[in-house]
Amino acid sequence: MRHITTHDAPATGLRGIGDTSWHVRGACHGMDVEDADAVFFPGPRDHEEIAEAKELCGWCPVRRVCLDFALENVLKEGVWGGLTEAERRPLHDNLHRRLDYRRVTAFFQGRDVHLTEAERQVAIDHAYVRGWQPDRLAAALQISHKHARDLLRQAANKVFDRDRNYGVPRSKKKRKKTSKAKGTPAPAAPGTQQPTGRPAASTPAHAPLGKAA
Ligand code: SF4
Repeated sequence: MRHITTHDAPATGLRGIGDTSWHVRGACHGMDVEDADAVFFPGPRDHEEIAEAKELCGWCPVRRVCLDFALENVLKEGVWGGLTEAERRPLHDNLHRRLDYRRVTAFFQGRDVHLTEAERQVAIDHAYVRGWQPDRLAAALQISHKHARDLLRQAANKVFDRDRNYGVPRSKKKRKKTSKAKGTPAPAAPGTQQPTGRPAASTPAHAPLGKAA
């Protein structure tokens, strides 16, 4: 159980990892097993059965959840959420790239949701920025303390590199002064003189874990 919040129900419209309660709300619920098998697991040329499955799925209230269930559990056969296996293939192949911020938000609310690789990475980066300790991340992602600490360090380095490369730009005024002084070093203002051949301010070799450590 997560310690972030006290509720563990999935957010509205999002399925929990082990949640199968939506099955009973499906339009196909209660169908004869053999009929369901023929309709939802048709051959590629069983056009009538495919059309029937799509019609049922078309007005099914849990269609989206059904599709997510198939994608997250790598169920590549049959019709799920109104899509045949051929229609779902690109979704299966690109699932790791899915970035749905509703899921990331649900994760920070302590909800039990499935995260793709991309969503998990965003969650880790945000956890670092929010100052999470390794213990907390380890519990939320259900990983070891050491693994969580390494992930937070990687996030810290990423933020450090981003700030160093894309940090606040120098003002135009300052840049002008520098170009004038090309070739002849300008006299330094009193109290601001720096030793020659050394950077004005030293930076640490590695980003500190900061809030997260
Ligand atoms: S979307 Fe289709 S397969 Fe999924 S529960 Fe609904 S009717 Fe059944």
